[in-house]
Amino acid sequence: MGKLVKQIVKTIKVDLDKCNGCRACEIACAAFHAKPRYSSFNPARSRIRMVIDERNDEWVAIRSTDYTKAGCDGRRVYTINGKEYSECSFCGSVCPTRDLFIEPDSGLPLKCDMCEDEKVPLCVQICSRDALTYEEKEVEVEELVKPAEIEIGLQSLVDKYGLQKLSDTFVRMSQKI
Ligand code: SF4
Ligand code: SF4
Repeated sequence: MGKLVKQIVKTIKVDLDKCNGCRACEIACAAFHAKPRYSSFNPARSRIRMVIDERNDEWVAIRSTDYTKAGCDGRRVYTINGKEYSECSFCGSVCPTRDLFIEPDSGLPLKCDMCEDEKVPLCVQICSRDALTYEEKEVEVEELVKPAEIEIGLQSLVDKYGLQKLSDTFVRMSQKI
């Protein structure tokens, strides 16, 4: 077992009964992460997305987590207060079986970063229904070396195009600089 270190775990609780699917959280997240900041409002670039099934009266805000190169083989279905939710309704993985959390221009995965140094994440600030609640707690965990964001992005490109094609592209691009 590796060295134990103290870590602040940040979470956002979602109250399914309060959310009305207004999608303000998507817009706030997309705007906060636009470059320059607040220069665009495209929900496709948001790290929080609404899963909406109006016939089933289902409104779920999910935040993106890690990139994964394969989707699940089987899916669970949850029944909560008489409504059926698919497992994908609660899953934040950036996976190839749906188009959520893929940056539309670059095709790179988008992961929630808890709005970096903001005291309260933007999606929580904007939600007028108090459907999102931000919480922090200190826990002891095994020390892990996390891959940098650029490494995760490059890995997803390698999975999609193959290493050879990617390295040929880098060589071609470097010759133009
Ligand atoms: S801002 Fe709040 S109420 Fe609106 S979609 Fe997001 S979580 Fe739901
Ligand atoms: S915490 Fe920040 S980065 Fe994460 S979904 Fe909310 S607004 Fe987006």
